[in-house]
Amino acid sequence: MRILLVEDDADLSASLKSELERIGFAVDVALDGERGEYLGMTETYTLVILDLGLPVLPGLAVLTTWRQAGNNVPVIVLTARDAWYEKVDGFKAGADDYLGKPFHIEELVARIQALLKRFYGQSITELSYLNLRLSEEQQCMFIDDQPPLVLTAVEFRLLRYLMLHPGQVLTKTHLLEHIYDIDHDPDSNVIEVYINRLRQKIGKHLISTRRGQGYVFGGQAECP
Ligand code: CA
Repeated sequence: MRILLVEDDADLSASLKSELERIGFAVDVALDGERGEYLGMTETYTLVILDLGLPVLPGLAVLTTWRQAGNNVPVIVLTARDAWYEKVDGFKAGADDYLGKPFHIEELVARIQALLKRFYGQSITELSYLNLRLSEEQQCMFIDDQPPLVLTAVEFRLLRYLMLHPGQVLTKTHLLEHIYDIDHDPDSNVIEVYINRLRQKIGKHLISTRRGQGYVFGGQAECP
């Protein structure tokens, strides 16, 4: 899952980026509204964190443009402390949630998890499929009662994305877009390498290959 963070405070955005990466997200940062608007229109994100007070283009204008263009990505807006009218304006413009500054990162993380739970219809912090369980907090995988298996950051992101989309054909390009940020643009063959590593850890049968199309987690995709 890839998050877009539009925040002009360089220190804040750097610390948020590293914390969000630690818990398994790929993060792109935009330091002004224009760049943020562009990325939101051209890249694929699971969620956006959007500051309202931004240079070049205000956050509200960015959000309005996205919504008018039919971009329905879940958005959490960051508002100035006690500025109740910013919250109202944010919701009117199409925000899904807000957080007043300053905030504790734990609260932002909790709001991201809650919003994604609403979006996916299940908790993303602890996913399970058959006898497989994936823990965000521990970045580990559990099979039955066996000891936890530690995953690398990329393995965790990839497995979480697969588990959130069972039965869907996912192309290598699609998986790359959701696992790496914009500064890391590896060859799509790395997905093949990571898929094979995951197969060794969770069992071959759980990820099938659709030749020329992509991968399906948890059994074959059904045709309508
Ligand atoms: Ca700001």
